[in-house]
Amino acid sequence: MKSPGSVDVKHLVENLTFAQKVERSLRLLEEAYEEYGDRLVVANSLGKDSCVVWDLAQRVSSDIGGFIVTTRFKPTETKTFMQEEMDRYPGMLKIFENDEEIPAQLYKTDPERCCELLKVQPTRWAIEEMKVGCWVTGLRCTEGRMRTEFQELEERDEGLIKLNPVLLWYEREVWEYLALHRVPANPLYAQGYRSLGCSPCTAISTGADERAGRWIGTSKCGGECGIHRRPLLVS
Ligand code: SF4
Repeated sequence: MKSPGSVDVKHLVENLTFAQKVERSLRLLEEAYEEYGDRLVVANSLGKDSCVVWDLAQRVSSDIGGFIVTTRFKPTETKTFMQEEMDRYPGMLKIFENDEEIPAQLYKTDPERCCELLKVQPTRWAIEEMKVGCWVTGLRCTEGRMRTEFQELEERDEGLIKLNPVLLWYEREVWEYLALHRVPANPLYAQGYRSLGCSPCTAISTGADERAGRWIGTSKCGGECGIHRRPLLVS
């Protein structure tokens, strides 16, 4: 596998065909799996992009495992979908959740802290417990205003590689893949949601920005929970 570095992401997003992007994603996963074996782990958020990545990873090897970070605030539909995914892939997906007590409505008063506790912290636990050397995400650079500077292969924490195999995909191509390969998706998309998170922080939105419905009315609006930016290897 090539070392982390820069490729002209924007050029590739605009010039590769759907089929070339699928090929490229599979190749990235194959190379990473060859290098990391069972230390390659998929972070499955249960969103549409993660469903693609999970399916691609299973095509590379049905031995590839993953983890799901869930919170007390996930919608019922997401919790049901999570259970269905666990049943479809018995023993392959581990759940991580932080159930410590937090101030009521922290998602309103301090959403950064709330995400740090309920999303980033369990991600750290997953990486530590599963001895992850390379974690795989469904991050896409066309998904929102804060996702344009990522690379397919990154080393934000020293010693921990992050692979973003569908970084170059458009939203349309995600749906194209799910439809062509008959991959199940969270039923909330049928209601009009385009990006899914916790109930209090997710709304149906329209317009160009796919993540515009996230954290509406807060400083985090359209932003990120933090797992892609904060240190994950903390001793
Ligand atoms: S998305 Fe909202 S409820 Fe969920 S962890 Fe972040 S701030 Fe809290």
